[in-house]
Amino acid sequence: MAKTTHQDSFDHIRQLMGDFSRDRDWEQFHDPKSLLLALVGEVGELAELFQWLPADQAKDLVAKPELHQRVGEEMGDIILYLVRLADVLEIDLGKATTDKFDSVVERFPTESVKGHAPTKD
Ligand SMILES: [Mg+2]
Repeated sequence: MAKTTHQDSFDHIRQLMGDFSRDRDWEQFHDPKSLLLALVGEVGELAELFQWLPADQAKDLVAKPELHQRVGEEMGDIILYLVRLADVLEIDLGKATTDKFDSVVERFPTESVKGHAPTKD
């Protein structure tokens, strides 16, 4: 499999979020702890949408327009806070993501794991 390449999407969102924060003088509130708690809160909001859905029906239920919209909104919130957190910590999120993906591809060679759930060992 070819190595993944860095994508510009995270950098574009990083710039937008940086401008958004500076324009509102909100950088003072964007310490890593606060951003991480905001990120976790948004993950909680996403989880809440799935909380009582029967597991075997979740995909079909989320395909319905209203819930589909809400799930997308929460995913957007998660990405925004994650990108902002990475920016504050000076982590190149695109590189970190593609580097991690490449290591996962190497760790789980297709011929060894095809059809089997990944295990921790
Ligand atoms: Mg939200």
